Amino acid sequence: MSFRWLSKALQSRNKERLCPVCPSISRLFSDVSSHSTPSFGIVFDIDGVVLRGDTPIGGSPQALRKLYHDSGPILIPTLTFLNDGALKIPYIFLTNGGGFRESNRASELSKLLGVKISPSQVVQGHSPFKQLVDRYENELVVAVGKGEPAAVMSEYGFKNVLSIDDYASCFDNIDPLAPYKKWTARLTCHDSTTKLVPPKINVHSQRVQAAFVLSDSVDWSRDIQVLCDIFRTGGLPGRNFGHQPQLYFAHDDLAYQAAFPAERLGLGAFRISLEAVFNRVHPHPLEYTTYGKPNPFVLKNAEILLQQLVQSLQHNAHVVSHASAGSHHFKTLYMIGDNPSVDIKGAQQAGHPWFSILTRTGVFKEKENHPQFPANLVVDTVEEAVDYILEKECTS
Ligand SMILES: [Mg+2]
Repeated sequence: MSFRWLSKALQSRNKERLCPVCPSISRLFSDVSSHSTPSFGIVFDIDGVVLRGDTPIGGSPQALRKLYHDSGPILIPTLTFLNDGALKIPYIFLTNGGGFRESNRASELSKLLGVKISPSQVVQGHSPFKQLVDRYENELVVAVGKGEPAAVMSEYGFKNVLSIDDYASCFDNIDPLAPYKKWTARLTCHDSTTKLVPPKINVHSQRVQAAFVLSDSVDWSRDIQVLCDIFRTGGLPGRNFGHQPQLYFAHDDLAYQAAFPAERLGLGAFRISLEAVFNRVHPHPLEYTTYGKPNPFVLKNAEILLQQLVQSLQHNAHVVSHASAGSHHFKTLYMIGDNPSVDIKGAQQAGHPWFSILTRTGVFKEKENHPQFPANLVVDTVEEAVDYILEKECTS
């Protein structure tokens, strides 16, 4: 029994109740999902779409709740865990942001948005770094960025990873401005109480083989200095010139919408600064790889994750058949974002079956569609976007 067929049958009987925003859609999907699965999935950006800083925006808690089986009234977000209903519409978050483990980010989002979100529904800019574990599993690598970048990399399977904080602490005077930085305690890697660097790692003889920038640098001047030292010397600061170790960025966003009213400089701005400086102090230009939206492979990976989510939903509902055990094919995948050059461009480049929806709650605030990267649909809020999707899918 196909979802579309049942939808049409129910629509003819219940059209006045289903539209314009399908008041009874919870019942509709509840009925359907036990027999079939939706032919569509949704991908949400986070910053500027569902959150601004730690504050839900655009009716995001209400919007997300519509994607679950009903389980009672929604409470006030940030207070407690709210909706324990099962997921009925496959969706994931796809953010270029990061710095924290996916499991931590999922539980934080659950608290802020009031729905049950699993780690498998959270894809961050640095999530694809997992695919590089085979190459660097036992090599010395440095992790850069706010949050807990080294813990993230360790969870991915990297065995010899140091945060740039810990790494820099092993080199006396590597940052001549450190005495003036009163916002942070001075660290030392030889401190027996803190044990910042495991004994098996000797940063003065082991070359750094790669640096991973997971999230925004907290101390640009120190990080640019130390990364230039690493890259100029082949991974041994203070030594002679050497071949540049590999460099990976989780994304290349120039700006993003945070709590401040105007956009903030992002990882792309840090990349530009590092590259500009390095190219002035080194005869060869900086080599690096960037991940994150709008790279088409990120959207392709999101589609695969949604397919896996559908399969887990089918498994939970005990409806896996031989026909559905393989890859689930979506007729439409909705990308809801606030940044035309990141979210919308990414969906455009990925092509079918992607349908892009641009909200006005973040980077984009214009009345008309974006001229360079026009979305398939422009709405004010994420709740409006979800209502549009549910109406379209239940009446088509
Ligand atoms: Mg955004």
